[in-house]
Amino acid sequence: MNVEALRSIGLSIATDALHLRPYSRDLWPRDTLKMYKEGVLPELPQAVVWPERPEHVEAIIEWATQEGVTIVPFGAGSGVCGGVRGRAGSLVVDLKRMNRILAINPHNRTVQVQSGLLGQHLEDQLEQTGWMTAHSPSSIACSTTGGYVAARSAGQFSSRYGVFDDILLAASAVTPKGKLQTGLWTPKENEDLLPVLCGSEGGLGIVTDMLLRISPLPSDRWLRGYAFPDLQSAWTAMRELMQAGIWPSVLRLYDPVDTKIGGKTSASDAKSGGGFAWMKNLASKSPFLQRHLLNLPLALPGLINKISAGISGEVLLIVGFDGPTPIVEASTKAAQKILANARDMGPEPGEHWFRHRHDVSYKLAPVFIAGAFADTMEVAATWDKLPTLYQEVRAALGRHTAVMAHFSHAYAEGCSIYFSFMGRGQLKTYDATWKDALDAARSAGGTVTHHHGVGVLKSEAAAKEAGAAIRVWNEIKTSLDPDGIMNPGRPFPIDFEPTTDDTLSAPTDGPVFELNETSLLATVDPQSNPDTLQTELASKGYTLRIPPDRPFGEWLPILSREATQAWETPVFTIQARFDDGVRTRIQPAPRSAAGPDLRWSLMRRATLETVQVPIRALSGDINIVGGHPHLDLRDVRPAWHTANGWGFEKSQSDLAEICHGEPSSQTQPTRNPKESS
Ligand SMILES: Cc1cc2nc3c(=O)[nH]c(=O)nc-3n(C[C@H](O)[C@H](O)[C@H](O)COP(=O)(O)OP(=O)(O)OC[C@H]3O[C@@H](n4cnc5c(N)ncnc54)[C@H](O)[C@@H]3O)c2cc1C
Repeated sequence: MNVEALRSIGLSIATDALHLRPYSRDLWPRDTLKMYKEGVLPELPQAVVWPERPEHVEAIIEWATQEGVTIVPFGAGSGVCGGVRGRAGSLVVDLKRMNRILAINPHNRTVQVQSGLLGQHLEDQLEQTGWMTAHSPSSIACSTTGGYVAARSAGQFSSRYGVFDDILLAASAVTPKGKLQTGLWTPKENEDLLPVLCGSEGGLGIVTDMLLRISPLPSDRWLRGYAFPDLQSAWTAMRELMQAGIWPSVLRLYDPVDTKIGGKTSASDAKSGGGFAWMKNLASKSPFLQRHLLNLPLALPGLINKISAGISGEVLLIVGFDGPTPIVEASTKAAQKILANARDMGPEPGEHWFRHRHDVSYKLAPVFIAGAFADTMEVAATWDKLPTLYQEVRAALGRHTAVMAHFSHAYAEGCSIYFSFMGRGQLKTYDATWKDALDAARSAGGTVTHHHGVGVLKSEAAAKEAGAAIRVWNEIKTSLDPDGIMNPGRPFPIDFEPTTDDTLSAPTDGPVFELNETSLLATVDPQSNPDTLQTELASKGYTLRIPPDRPFGEWLPILSREATQAWETPVFTIQARFDDGVRTRIQPAPRSAAGPDLRWSLMRRATLETVQVPIRALSGDINIVGGHPHLDLRDVRPAWHTANGWGFEKSQSDLAEICHGEPSSQTQPTRNPKESS
């Protein structure tokens, strides 16, 4: 690789092993295990380059295209699935010198940032101006905005503020075929490829900058712990809170093992961070424990899980609200009606979690040094499938490892489950654990990843989940990266043969094909007139939560999902038929990071046969938004623009104009304070 041409345009480049080593991997535990066990590290790339401007990125990709060099975009390397894993002969493009906030626009509630900015630096700078994105992954100190787009990240306050996809309004990327403007920046005549860029894991191009929603810093925060007698009653409370439109910013439920091991329901000991804390503590007690005691239970995971399964007792739910005091007061009042049957443990469990929310996951080295491995798996499903998903994935993981779980990232339609597990430090155990767990997640109707992305670890499982819709990815990939130089094999394996689902057939007995009353979803005929649909739903006691002004089949493909009132999504599962008769169903369950969201591009390329849309009961809602005369909707559900709500009065182009046009009060771009030191 002759990198002199790149040096000659002023780019910093390194080719020596010392610089290349950190760029050969991310934090995928399998690579850590392999390093401890076999002393083997992933292959070194050939060079790493540090662009400082979008033009640098363009020059790099142009050069790589001419030279036939593969490119691996690199944010902060905090991925946990092998997304940036080394490949001999490749060029790593580290974006971290592109770390500027370009504009904060309080009027439009947006911030424009470059893609190499660390999440923590973004929030620190926004905080000085009274704003936040509220995107707060546990890895906030060591992950970048570009990584959030590419791997479809979710933060700890997602139940109210949305996952990163929901916060993201527009993004620019450089592809081998040139610049790509997406979301609100999409040129009028082009297809909006933002949903496909999200989750593309560097496989289409390099994200250079983006426009994000911002929300005012909360003036008040309320956190509390509630003990429930069992998981089922706690799930019901979580679901009811979300479906009532109350939307706490924090909603975290610990399963019986996590609750017990963390000592979380005993008021005297709420000190543990739960999840990985027990693994870390166990491994760090003493050298003896490290070598022997740890290996013993891990050799018998079945026994350990059996003992844990026998642990009965309360489970802990942490509930939190933030915002202006009247909002917090109204929200907590409404929430307490739903939480009335739980044991109120006061503020400490919630406040303790808040203080320590970023602590635990960084301290896992002792587990690996002690000869074990620790890892996490985050899946999601609609509420009706959640108990099965929990039991089946837990059983699959539990065949090989000691396992516990918590439930966070809740939606009106469903929830994610975050499993933490620890096993004996053998690669074959590690691989068997993941194989079984991924299979279990799929057969239980969940997504294989809610927010950690795909990488090497889940690429095959994600491709299976995409089914025949992967054709859509292949078409877009070929048009933007015809030579396949962009992070090959991410997020889907190269030349993966799309799987077809023969069980899918033409729907019958519409216009409402199926009603999911637990998850408040209706599968309907996309060609049906909305009035006919509403009449049919009303006869069953429901109404559309987001009514379109024309049939869904016409409304959805031209709706800019960014031009919506809040981050609620107007559509879930879709089924479509390609011209050759092949059917496919995309089921994002209710959010997924298993590669890009292909639904919107699929709608343009195939005939929609069914859409699953959110509904609400005609009676019995505790909706504080509708019921409180003094509340501003924007404060309850942070939104970029609320003037016209859903619909077309404000079109995508109007919104794009607002975004590009001169804002009435724009804060000056700031330099990253860390840069000058
Ligand atoms: C301790 C710990 C806690 C974590 N907690 C969370 C959590 O709470 N929520 C969560 O969502 N995730 C979490 N993660 C996972 C990880 O932080 C996320 O996946 C994050 O989005 C990765 O960002 P990054 O900048 O480190 O990306 P990297 O790891 O550098 O890259 C991830 C993928 O994105 C691609 N990529 C990176 N930048 C760009 C770009 N500019 N353009 C195109 N492609 C790009 C890479 O090629 C790679 O495929 C955690 C990880 C750790 C280690």
